[in-house]
Amino acid sequence: MTTDLHGRTQRLELSDQGLRDFEAVVLDATPEGIVVNRSAFYPGGGGQPADHGVLIWQGVETRVVGVRKGDDLYLIPAEGDPIPPVGTVVRAAVEDERRSALMRTHSGLHVLCGVVFRDFRCPVTGGNMEPLTARMDFNLPEVPPGFKELVEDACNAEIIADRRIDVRVLPRDEAFAIPDIIRTATNLVPPEVEDVRVVDIVGLDTQADGGTHVASTKQIGRIKVTKVESKGRGFRRLRIAISD
Ligand SMILES: [Zn+2]
Repeated sequence: MTTDLHGRTQRLELSDQGLRDFEAVVLDATPEGIVVNRSAFYPGGGGQPADHGVLIWQGVETRVVGVRKGDDLYLIPAEGDPIPPVGTVVRAAVEDERRSALMRTHSGLHVLCGVVFRDFRCPVTGGNMEPLTARMDFNLPEVPPGFKELVEDACNAEIIADRRIDVRVLPRDEAFAIPDIIRTATNLVPPEVEDVRVVDIVGLDTQADGGTHVASTKQIGRIKVTKVESKGRGFRRLRIAISD
């Protein structure tokens, strides 16, 4: 099984996406970054930005404004905030509003990806998100009439269908035996990775993915396709907004 370790930090959010507070011990601390033994702060990746939050210790507060990935995971403190000394036990909280919005947005992007591939057979070439807004790039030579509305309606139908979103960790061979995974992930997962985390919108979209997701599509809310841009030959950029 996977250890969920990044450097010396156990990543709690990979197996518990609902976790928002936890206790940890400080292993290393400078104004540039604080290393703890366990963390539920999503460090960023796969288009999903890092979490924000707070560490509380000995009556003071250190705001966490981002995470840097190196040999260890470094929680980035707000400039001028007090730094907990090594050995301190801190209580940590992930900012719920931001993270929950990012989970809805990330799952929304997977719905979009699944719908566009199913209905138009075009692959994703990139994507990025902020809380409740996102973009996804596709290779689509011709934009069919009514494309924007067709995509939006199909996405919202999948939301109403309330499909389950399962996260599981599979041995590499087993993960890549799932046909859909190959189109998004084969080239992205380094060969030395033995276990692959798979996010499955059951019946719609299966991807190798390290991000945080809601438990079923209804929790996304509503998807609006706000824009379809042409960025070059076959290069289409869809922008979406998520609302309740
Ligand atoms: Zn993803």
